[in-house]
Amino acid sequence: MYKVVILGTGPAGLTAAIYLARANMEPLVIEGSEPGGQLTLTTEVENFPGFPDGIMGPELMANMRKQAERFGAKFQTGWVKTLDVSKRPFTLSVEGTGDIATEALIISTGASAKLLDIPGEKENIGKGVSTCATCDGFFFRGKKIIVVGGGDSAMEEANFLTKFASEVRVVHRRSELRASKIMQERARENAKVSWSLNSIPQEVIAGDKGVTGLKVKNNETGADEVIQTDGIFIAIGHRPNTDFLGGQIETDETGYIKVKPGTTETSVAGVFACGDVQDHKYRQAITAAGSGCMAALDCERFLEGSSVQDWSYTL
Ligand code: NAP
Repeated sequence: MYKVVILGTGPAGLTAAIYLARANMEPLVIEGSEPGGQLTLTTEVENFPGFPDGIMGPELMANMRKQAERFGAKFQTGWVKTLDVSKRPFTLSVEGTGDIATEALIISTGASAKLLDIPGEKENIGKGVSTCATCDGFFFRGKKIIVVGGGDSAMEEANFLTKFASEVRVVHRRSELRASKIMQERARENAKVSWSLNSIPQEVIAGDKGVTGLKVKNNETGADEVIQTDGIFIAIGHRPNTDFLGGQIETDETGYIKVKPGTTETSVAGVFACGDVQDHKYRQAITAAGSGCMAALDCERFLEGSSVQDWSYTL
C-alpha cells in the first residue's frame, strides 16, 4: 500500500514527486507511454526560469526525474487500465503489474496535441514541425511558417507567430473557420497572415535540413499543391489524457479534469489533478510544475488529516 501514487512524468508529476519525496511520503510514480511528457517532443526550452542559456526539453525532464529519485521517489512503467476511487484506499489496475492500492492519488497525465497523422509529420517534430508556438516560434525569425487549423488556437498561434515569421499561412480544411469572430478578425487584419482554405494536409515534405513544404489537396478542385515553408505549426486542438478515468472523476465537456478553484482538489476527496490534464488555458512547463507543487502540498495536508481549504485559509 502506498501513501500516494502519481500518474504521469511531465513537469507536473515530477514536481509533485520531488515535493512528496522530500516530505517522506515515498511516492510511487507511474510512467506511461510518453515518459517526460510533451517536453520530450520539443528541442530547446528557453523560457523555463533558471536556465539563462536554455535547456533541451528531454534533459530538463531527465533532471527533474533525477531530482525526484534523489529524495526516494520510486518509478514504475505501466499503463493504468482502470481505477476504483469509490473508496479508500483507491485501487489502480496497472497493465503488467497487477493492482496497486494507495491512500491518495495525483493525476498528472497531461494532454496530447492532436496530430494530422500524415506522412513526414512525426519524424519531423523538432525539425520544423511543432505543436507549440510559444515554445518554438522564436526559432523561425524571418522565416515562412504554416499554421494548420481553423480554431481559436490556430488564429492565436498565427497572430503570435507573425512576431517572428516573415509570413504565416493558415491552412484549413474547410472554407469557414471554426474560430470565434474576434479571433478571426484579428488574424484577417494581420498583413503577415495569408490563407489556404479548403486545403487538406497530405504530406510534410522535408530535406536534410528539415521541413521545406506541406503538400495539400484542395477539396473543391481536387488539385494538389506543395506550399513552400520552413515550419509547420499544427494547432488542431489538444486531447486531455483522461479516458482511463471511466467517468469517476468530474471533467468538463472536453474531458479536462475539473478542480476546485485555487486548489488541485478534484470531485473525489484524496484525488488531486495538476498540469495540462486540468489546464487548457496556460499549458506551459512552468505552470504545470507550479500546479504539481500545489498538488503535492494539497495531498500532504490531506494525508495529515486537514482539509485543503482549512489549510489555505490559515496561511
Ligand atoms: P478546436 O476549436 O477544436 O479547433 C480545431 C481546428 O482544427 C478546427 O478548425 C478543425 O477543423 C481543425 N482540425 C481538427 N482535426 C483536423 C485534422 N485532422 N486535419 C485538419 N484540420 C483539423 O481546437 P482549438 O482551436 O485548440 O480550441 C480549443 C478550445 O480552446 C476552444 O474552445 C477554443 O475556443 C479555446 N481557445 C480559446 C482561445 C482564446 O480565446 N484566446 C485560444 C485558444 C483556444 P474543422 O473546423 O473543420 O473541424
